[in-house]
Amino acid sequence: ARRPAANSIIQPDFKFEDMGIGGLDSEFSVIFRRAFTSRIIPPGLAEKLGVQHVRGMLLYGPPGTGKTLIARQIGKMLNAREPKVINGPEVLNKYVGQSEENIRKLFADAEKEQKEKGDESGLHIIIFDELDAVCKQRGSGSSGGTGVGDSVVNQLLSKLDGVEQLNNILLIGMTNRKDMIDEALLRSGRLEVHVEISLPDEHGRAQIIKIHTNKMKENGVLDPDVDIAELARLTKNFSGAEINGLVKSAGSFAFSRHTKVGTMAQYDDSIVDMKVKREDFLGALDEVKPLFGVAEDELA
Ligand code: ATP
Repeated sequence: ARRPAANSIIQPDFKFEDMGIGGLDSEFSVIFRRAFTSRIIPPGLAEKLGVQHVRGMLLYGPPGTGKTLIARQIGKMLNAREPKVINGPEVLNKYVGQSEENIRKLFADAEKEQKEKGDESGLHIIIFDELDAVCKQRGSGSSGGTGVGDSVVNQLLSKLDGVEQLNNILLIGMTNRKDMIDEALLRSGRLEVHVEISLPDEHGRAQIIKIHTNKMKENGVLDPDVDIAELARLTKNFSGAEINGLVKSAGSFAFSRHTKVGTMAQYDDSIVDMKVKREDFLGALDEVKPLFGVAEDELA
């Protein structure tokens, strides 16, 4: 049976603003509520409410939207140890039998600690990126399917539902293709909380641009003519990762304005006062295009 256990505490001085995640406040609050409630609620009350630990979550949505960022921050907030990170294709590329062994190893530390310390065990977070990769072949029976995916999924299921249920794990699966995820994995008691992490809206983009230009600003190299609200409007359909790319590109445009024509190896003395300006961001906007931009614009 699953036992309620206050086996970890939230870092008391953790603030959402400090996490470096832009535009995902409501998603984060869902994750927070589901991942944390059972871990901080007094055991007596947990029993009255029937609250049990959530041991698995699925974060899904387009690439580069901050799924990995959120998963890592959850770990920090829950005072968990450094998460174990694995990705689907990596698991499958191993020899027969090795895939199952990889999964077994992922859970081994948590199992050991639960055996030794019971409810006093710390929380173990496992981040499973590109989870769809191990699901594709399950039950397909088609030629070419190696069946390795099947056994990986089965192994995961058995770890999640095991006889000795683990209360000290949080498995966070991630995918760009929720439709590819084996339904058995998504049921209650398994990866039961599903949170969509979508492309940021204008408000979210402004937050992300602020986060990624903050270093420049602190270092005094961001020109005041850069208008974050304007950039947020101009970056429709950009993911967080693409915004990060845009800022880097703008930095390189600013630098190249100070280099001698025809050579990047020589720069002039004005380099000491260099600033990243609005025009650099406009140059970057010509260079960095959102992956999903075109299709979504056509739909709109
Ligand atoms: P994938 O599906 O490709 O694994 P992901 O959703 O896990 O992508 P991340 O790895 O979390 O994406 O994001 C990549 C990088 O993009 C981050 O390290 C960060 O620099 C930037 N980024 C993405 N989303 C955000 C966000 N919401 N706020 C701030 N930065 C972000």
